[in-house]
Amino acid sequence: MARVLIAGGGIAGTITAIALQEVGHEPVLYEASGRGVGGVGAFLTLAVNGLDALRPFGLKPLVKAAGFDTPRMTIGLGNGHRLAEFPLGEPLPDGTTSQTIGRADLYRALREEADRRGVPTSYDKRLTAATQTSSQVTAQFEDGTATSGDLLIGADGLRSRVRRIIDPTAPEPRYVPLLNTGGRVTGLDLGDEPGVMHMAFGRKAFFAHVVHPDRSVWWFANVPRATEPDRAELAALRGPVWRAALLRLFARDRFPAARIIEATEEIYRPWATYDFPSVPVWHRGRIGIIGDAAHATSPAAGQGASMAIEDAVTLARCLRDVPETALATFESLRRTRVEAVVAQGKRNSDAKGAPGPVGRLLRDFFLARTLSKPSAEDPNEFMWSHRIDWAAPVSA
Ligand SMILES: Cc1cc2nc3c(=O)[nH]c(=O)nc-3n(C[C@H](O)[C@H](O)[C@H](O)COP(=O)(O)OP(=O)(O)OC[C@H]3O[C@@H](n4cnc5c(N)ncnc54)[C@H](O)[C@@H]3O)c2cc1C
Repeated sequence: MARVLIAGGGIAGTITAIALQEVGHEPVLYEASGRGVGGVGAFLTLAVNGLDALRPFGLKPLVKAAGFDTPRMTIGLGNGHRLAEFPLGEPLPDGTTSQTIGRADLYRALREEADRRGVPTSYDKRLTAATQTSSQVTAQFEDGTATSGDLLIGADGLRSRVRRIIDPTAPEPRYVPLLNTGGRVTGLDLGDEPGVMHMAFGRKAFFAHVVHPDRSVWWFANVPRATEPDRAELAALRGPVWRAALLRLFARDRFPAARIIEATEEIYRPWATYDFPSVPVWHRGRIGIIGDAAHATSPAAGQGASMAIEDAVTLARCLRDVPETALATFESLRRTRVEAVVAQGKRNSDAKGAPGPVGRLLRDFFLARTLSKPSAEDPNEFMWSHRIDWAAPVSA
């Protein structure tokens, strides 16, 4: 049995802890933030591949209870034409479809479940440094405390400290030239079927909305922005200024973006998009990284959370079957797939860029032509169709 220190109690960290406990190891979670995860906030769509990976741990019903079915999406243009309607991945054999879920609700559900299963978790515990010998690793925290274990897993997200510890020359996240924003609205009747994600390439920005079964409308927008904004620039985009900017961007589009934005009481303050085309070092000795720390992808892939889940389950398989080489085996099983997902996310993001009037015409033309082909293969399909066989033994 290994004592596995996990820095980061987000998606990857919490599920890794639950899965490791299942296979008889001793996980201990350290989360930098406080126990509370906030209230209403941004949301994500958890794809069928991620949901399937949760099955062996009985976590799928928990996630489904906190989210809502999102089986299909439509794609449209600023002129109001709907180009296509697709399933968001084939449903799982038990009928489970993609789930849209508030980030805070997902974190809360996972953390409560880890508590219920007795996973020791410490909050307000920010890892700052780690050292290792041939027999153990010691993690140090901002509050001056330290603890030792057999392994340290950095599940500490995009700005991972552990990534820097194992490789001081690790790359910085790449800026993907889009800002994200969104919101939730009640009392707006769009007449849409609940659970269908409507995505639209507008004249100047990208917009998506989905109606919750309670009839509230959840939406997000991607706004092209060529240069990386600093904190002050992002902070200035708030309140009436940000609302007016968004309304200008969508003013001439014939999908209901402007109507939805106008009706939204609290529009999320924008945040920038980042990814990692490739992080060269994933492990050194007894320390490794998983999830966004190793391979953050643009949200346009719709896969960051699912990749974190797949990582957690794969790492637990490796620690179950090949504990001596677990970190290297994990990398050999995951690197090709996650880098392909990051690349697909970048392509999806690029399609949302600011093309200018001629570029826009070309983009709309090619989108219409590609999506109208009955045999058109969805380039996202490889992401959704991936399955992990939990029971199958891993070899080194
Ligand atoms: C706007 C947006 C939309 C998205 N949409 C989707 C989507 O539709 N579908 C999808 O699948 N994914 C989506 N994602 C991506 C998804 O949220 C992430 O990929 C996923 O959360 C990664 O999980 P993680 O556990 O690796 O990192 P996180 O969930 O970020 O968790 C990292 C945790 O580590 C903690 N931490 C950080 N530093 C330290 C430290 N030094 N010590 C201890 N703890 C630390 C943090 O507080 C945090 O709790 C989206 C992301 C964004 C930003």
